[in-house]
Amino acid sequence: MQADEVAANQEFFPVNPAGLARASDSELWEAVNAAEIHPLLCAIALLTHDDTVLDPRFRPNVQLPPSGPPPHAGLSPTMVAEARRLAFQHLKELRKASDLGGRVPTTAIVQRAIEFTAGGQCRLPLRMIQRELDIPHDSAAPAWRLQAVSPGRRFRVAVIGSGMSGILVAHRLRQAGIEFTIFEKNPELGGTWYENSYPGCRLDTPNFAYSYSFAQNPMWPNEFSQREAIRSYFSALAERFGVTARLQLNTEVLSSRYEPSRHRWQLRVRGSDGNVSDHEFNAVVSAVGQLNKPKIPDIPGVGSFAGDAWHTAQWNHSVSLKGKRVGVIGTGASAYQVVPAILPDVASLLVFQRNPPWMLPTPRYYEPISEPHQLLLCHLPHYARWLRFYQFWATTQGRWDLVRVDPAFSHPLSVSAANEELRQALVRHIEASYADRPDLLVSQIPGYPPGAKRMLRDNGVWPAALKDPRVTLETRPIDTISPAGVRVDDGTVHDLDVIIYATGFRAAEFLAPMEVVGENGQNLHDWWNGDARAYLGMCLPGFPNFFCMYGPNTNLVVHGSLILFAESSASYITECLRLVLTNRVEALAVTEEAFQSFNELIDRENDLMAWGASQISSWYKNDLGRVSQNWPLSLEAFFSMTETPQRDHYRFLG
Ligand code: NAP
Repeated sequence: MQADEVAANQEFFPVNPAGLARASDSELWEAVNAAEIHPLLCAIALLTHDDTVLDPRFRPNVQLPPSGPPPHAGLSPTMVAEARRLAFQHLKELRKASDLGGRVPTTAIVQRAIEFTAGGQCRLPLRMIQRELDIPHDSAAPAWRLQAVSPGRRFRVAVIGSGMSGILVAHRLRQAGIEFTIFEKNPELGGTWYENSYPGCRLDTPNFAYSYSFAQNPMWPNEFSQREAIRSYFSALAERFGVTARLQLNTEVLSSRYEPSRHRWQLRVRGSDGNVSDHEFNAVVSAVGQLNKPKIPDIPGVGSFAGDAWHTAQWNHSVSLKGKRVGVIGTGASAYQVVPAILPDVASLLVFQRNPPWMLPTPRYYEPISEPHQLLLCHLPHYARWLRFYQFWATTQGRWDLVRVDPAFSHPLSVSAANEELRQALVRHIEASYADRPDLLVSQIPGYPPGAKRMLRDNGVWPAALKDPRVTLETRPIDTISPAGVRVDDGTVHDLDVIIYATGFRAAEFLAPMEVVGENGQNLHDWWNGDARAYLGMCLPGFPNFFCMYGPNTNLVVHGSLILFAESSASYITECLRLVLTNRVEALAVTEEAFQSFNELIDRENDLMAWGASQISSWYKNDLGRVSQNWPLSLEAFFSMTETPQRDHYRFLG
């Protein structure tokens, strides 16, 4: 390999160029027509080492309209046609090559393709781009091993939870040669993708970006895949990472206590046999997620309903909805997916709406990835990688600028001129969606700024459901729940057979109900006192060697994907452990000063986002009104802050 070549190591989902070699001219042409043109041109450039296809005339316009990146990033039809013809010529040549899989792109051509996609003045750190591109392969893998940095030392880590974050951090620990056990309360791994089995459950962020950068899956069935495809992805990877052997299912961690004299964490767990046992670890990583405690609203009579009732995250598959009178309470992200999915079954459906959500036009939301497109994704080396990068790049800034507060701007329903422009565009979309139903339209325009709550993807399915003759929208406030059904505030009673609570989660109750006791006998929940905070979402002063994945203030609303945060956090945590090991100490704990100044910054910045400035209730805020969930800064800010632990932000113990 030459010095300027980029290593192309083994992939978890290798692309098989043989399928391309077998494609006929017409199949190739169909594939070119199904492709996203910019990733296709980048893949061709990487394979041919010829950058003429990266013609500046074909450059994407990355100015994101409210609906997200348009096909081919807004390139004119003439330019798209020209680029397709060029790509087709190249693909016919590449099809003949027998060495496609082994062709290693040069650093120079990768750099050209990055500039082509992201612009010459790309503000993102190159290392972040390389990680997202997975060039070189798995650049974030720990470059050290426990036995090399601290020979003979035994160091054990408890990972709590086996969702997307837990599997990832376990993989990183394994790569570093650190012993770990994963405790999972559920009978299967998968976290939120295991728990949420409601009909219609699927991603609402683009699928390619919602995959680990170092294990990119080219074979997604949809651009926004359904739950089963995502679960299969994580299960298959957990197996390949070799972490399932260290997974204890049906095992709930009841408490974690730090023993300061020995610098060890004592975990009390209830195992699959129901017995309680104690286990000792050097460090603990909580990967329990934010959205796993279903919230059943405190409505008078809530337990008195005589029919079946359940929360979307605890779907009762033993009850058929066939021919039933069903009530769904809530119109958030879960309801948006459930209501259209159960509609064909029910006799009638009553939707209880308090605040309507903003609908984000996404016409291709349910579309499968076509067979011609699959040909490129599965058989053209680099295409899937560049499609993922293109989606990632388009959402790095996302709608962040559109939901940022302008203190000089004053409007009751928007937070800046750009936010107002977005609001008006979204209002027009809603008006068009309900043009034939003015009776519904009046209740569908949110009375709060876009971005204050999660915007929901709309491909016309939700408005169609509300217009269905079996559906009634109820906007009067719920008064009580009785054995017969739901009574609203004017005394009207709706008789129901089933009530489905699509009422969200107690997201601000981080880590509950687990008891966590730190260095000075401090109980974490008492210390937080309803206002969870952490340094970089991960570390807590007084809780040495205790780390959170997807902890306080690491949720994303309008830009990026949570996978990027999970990858940064997993690497950061392993680097913290390296500091402990190489410094021959027992533990580290973030300083009070670092914790305080980080949280001051986060609070200041969250106040300048639509979700912080608006008075509307949302799961982004805790009961004290503070935004305890969301990350208000850029993605690159999190990437940079978490690249290397700053030693002076930590106390070393033992
Ligand atoms: P949510 O967004 O918090 O929505 C809860 C809904 O219940 C809201 O419409 C809320 O109304 C309503 N509600 C709560 N209490 C009520 C009461 N007492 N009476 C009437 N209505 C009540 O919860 P979610 O839909 O489960 O979604 C939570 C988060 O999970 C999402 O924001 C998203 O991050 C994630 N999620 C993602 C996906 C995905 O596609 N990947 C799918 C589902 C969920 P108000 O708006 O008036 O409060």
